[in-house]
Parts: sequence; structure tokens; C-alpha cells
Amino acid sequence: MKKSFNTIVEILNYDSALKLLILRYGISVDAKSIEENCPTYPVAFRTKRISKNTKIVDGCLIDAETKSMPWIPEEIFIQFSNIKSIVKVNYNKNSNFILSYRNNNLELASSELEIKLICELSPRPTWNHKQVNNFDADQYIQVMGKDRIAVLGFEGCSEWFHNTQCKFCDSCSSRANEKSIRPTLNDLNTKYDNNIPVWLDDFSKQYFEGLKEVYKLVLEDKNITPHHHLHIMSGNLPNLDMEWEYMLDLSRELSKIKPLSEVDSYLNILPPLNTQYLYDAKEIGFQKMIFNLEVYLESYFKSICPGKHAHIPYNIYLQQMEKAVEIFGIGKVRCSFVLGAQPINILCDGIEELASKGIVSDFTVFTPKKGTPWENKIGPDIIEVAKFCSFLKDVYVKYGFSGLYCSLASRSGIMNELLND
Ligand code: SF4
Repeated sequence: MKKSFNTIVEILNYDSALKLLILRYGISVDAKSIEENCPTYPVAFRTKRISKNTKIVDGCLIDAETKSMPWIPEEIFIQFSNIKSIVKVNYNKNSNFILSYRNNNLELASSELEIKLICELSPRPTWNHKQVNNFDADQYIQVMGKDRIAVLGFEGCSEWFHNTQCKFCDSCSSRANEKSIRPTLNDLNTKYDNNIPVWLDDFSKQYFEGLKEVYKLVLEDKNITPHHHLHIMSGNLPNLDMEWEYMLDLSRELSKIKPLSEVDSYLNILPPLNTQYLYDAKEIGFQKMIFNLEVYLESYFKSICPGKHAHIPYNIYLQQMEKAVEIFGIGKVRCSFVLGAQPINILCDGIEELASKGIVSDFTVFTPKKGTPWENKIGPDIIEVAKFCSFLKDVYVKYGFSGLYCSLASRSGIMNELLND
């Protein structure tokens, strides 16, 4: 790892090279030392189960891991040499990066790199346990990192129910019998015979009312600084028009509490087949659109993301992204890719092509996930990833693009740290 690190520092800067290594090699967690030294851990902090196993069981998409999995931090703040960043904890029990409490400090240490970085756990908001319609407030809205306010329109992805899910995806499944205030596709599939209007009719009113109440708590929370990145995410419904109608209804409701035009607002969804929805999103006040194409070129899209392609064919996907640039502006439409899902040179050509049309590319690095068709596929080499990051930075600089959110909110990316040079 030391040799790779030295090479990567020459390609990137020191801080982004470190963050990249931590994301890539993962973190081993000494949970006992954290529990012993931090009396409010885990309840007061953002945590997640150590591993999961996404599956359809009895018509429901769930995390079917039967063992009782320990909890670990979901994300941590790390003080690098020039910048403080939020970093997602990709758990790896064999990693040389070890998170533990030492001398009254939470630190991430690597014996191979001979470094110790001071860290902080990511706190849940103080209002997270307030009850709204008998659910914890943070079931409605989550604060990720320091200042990304995340709202999920509904739970689930219809591709999983049709066996057309993207090959790399392990989705965001809930535990069996876990109750949710959000409309969930598990109910649509098992109790509503896929009747979307009736299902939404039953759930959306109460959900929207609760959302607005919790959004008021968010707006009063002085800890959410320095920005207000409002990230409204859709799942995937079997009907794209209905999905857009529903997500726009939800967004209109939130905009009544504080206009979306006054915050750094994002709608993360598949592009619509009907261009009118893009105009509607602009009118509601959205500042930016996020469309995750995942892979460049039709042949890859068709074979790696068959469900997405069935909803919106590749060529129309691209046309609608360009249309969105006309409506929202250059640099206001973002598109994320999975690095390692296709040859990197093809992806680089695609990113340059999209940038020339005003579309900003983001990426996540492919990592094999248990239970997916690609669980045995090897992820890209770390040096290749570093070279790719350097290429992407040059594209951002050439076209005047900014990183996604900021370094305190973007936990799986390194572009903010790289652009901070
Ligand atoms: S659209 Fe693809 S990447 Fe997104 S949740 Fe569904 S299967 Fe996963």
C-alpha cells in the first residue's frame, strides 16, 4: 500500500490520495474501544450494519442476512492535512486502516503508511428521535455528512422485482419486518397487486405531511452548516411518468416550507420520457438534476442496466440530459458512472463528450457485492482509479465545473478534495 500511496500522491494531491486509499481499501473498526470511550455510541451517531445480503424473499426486497450483525459507523469526518472531509466507512476487517479510540481521540491509523488521522463520528441530528406520526423524525429525512439533507421519495427499485437490476447493485434493502413511513415497493408488490395510484393514495398524504413537519426541524437546526444541499432521491417505479408525477408532488410540498430555489436543491431520478416534467421541476425551484447513467455507450447500458434501458432507452436518456442542460444550465446536470463497469478509456471519451454538452460526470468505484451477478468481478486497480481522477479533475477545470455538494457532504468522492488544491 505504501508504494501505491507514493505513486498516487504524485498523480493527485496528498489529501485526496489518502481519501482515495481509505475508500478503496476500506476501514477495520475497533468497535469495542469506541463503545468504551463514547457513552452515547451507537445511538447518537450515524451507524450501519456491518454487512448485508439483498434478496427478494416472499415478494419483498429485503436484507436477508439472518445473523445479528454488529453496528459500525456509517461515515466519519477525517481531518486531513488541508481539509476536513466526510468519508464513507467501507468496512473491511482486514484493512490496514483501523478506526479506534486512543488517548481520548477517535483516530484512523495505518501502520503501513505510518499515519494517524484525527476523526469524528458523524452525529445524528438532535431531533432524530422526535416522533412524527409514530415514526422517528429521521425516518423521514436524514442528514448525511454535515449538510446534505436527504429525502427518499419511496423505498425500493422495481428492477429487483423483475430481475432486471443493474449488475453491480446491491440496492438499499430494509430488514424483514422493518416498518417504514415511506411508501415501499414491497407493499406495492405484495399488498397492492402493483396498482401504483391506489398504493400512493394510501401512503403519500401522511408521508408528505410528516416530511413537511420534519423539514421545519431541519431548517431550525443550526448544526446543519455551512450549506444546505437538499438531495431529493427517487427509487424506481415500474412506471416512469407516475414516478415523475409523484416526485414532483413531493417536491412541491417541501417547497411550500422553504422554496427549493433558495437552497442547493437536487432531484435524483431517471430522466423523463416527457420533457414537460423537466420544465415542471425547474418551475418548482430545483437547481440541479442528477441522472445516473452508470455506463457510457448503448451496448454497455443495455447489458449492464437492462431495467433502466427498458424504462428509457439509451439514446433518449442522452437527449433528455441535453434538454435538461438547456433548461437548468451548463454544469447543473450531473451524471454518475460506475468506474470499473466498462473499459476506462471508453468512459473517459464519454465524460469528455458529455462535458462538451454541459453535463458534469461523477463516479463511484465498482466494488463487488455479495449476491450480485458481479460478486466475483475484480474492481479497477487503484493506480488506474487515481489516473482517472486526475483526468476528471482536468475536465472539471477545463469546463469550469464544481464538485458534488462539498467535502463535508460528499463522502464517496474525492473531487472536492482534489479541486481544493
Ligand atoms: S436502478 Fe439499478 S443501480 Fe439503481 S437501485 Fe435499481 S438496480 Fe440499483
